Amino acid sequence: MRIGPQRRQPKYSPPEPRACEYCGDSFKPPFPSSDARRVRRFCSDDHARRARAENVRELLDERGLLSTGDLVERFGTDRRVVINNIIEGRLAAEEIKVPGALRPISYGVSEREAARFEREWRNGGDGRRAFSWVPERVVERSRGDGATSTSRVAG
Ligand SMILES: [Zn+2]
Repeated sequence: MRIGPQRRQPKYSPPEPRACEYCGDSFKPPFPSSDARRVRRFCSDDHARRARAENVRELLDERGLLSTGDLVERFGTDRRVVINNIIEGRLAAEEIKVPGALRPISYGVSEREAARFEREWRNGGDGRRAFSWVPERVVERSRGDGATSTSRVAG
């Protein structure tokens, strides 16, 4: 009779080194993947994030759209203000869905729409309204986006 640790057959095939889809470096996944959907494609979480971010950038560029980050810079405001103007319908945007990303929904805004919005806002006519929001609605709409903070009302 054998005593001692028994050698267990690996249940899944051992991880094969593969090339990171972002940097191209070869890496060895830490564990054999038991789930095809979770096959590691990147050497690190950082590279997975960057790849997703660049994917969004590419999708926006293809459509000739500005990202919310672009608008934050252009308007000199913060992301929540931009997002809230979009979800409240004051700033027309296209939804870009990125499954699995930190922000599963990104928005793209055309140059023309950004200019229209900016003009209205700078003229002050709609400025006040453009910077108010209904907190309950914002919480509801942004659930899953990680952005649930509503304590601050801009403007
Ligand atoms: Zn990498």
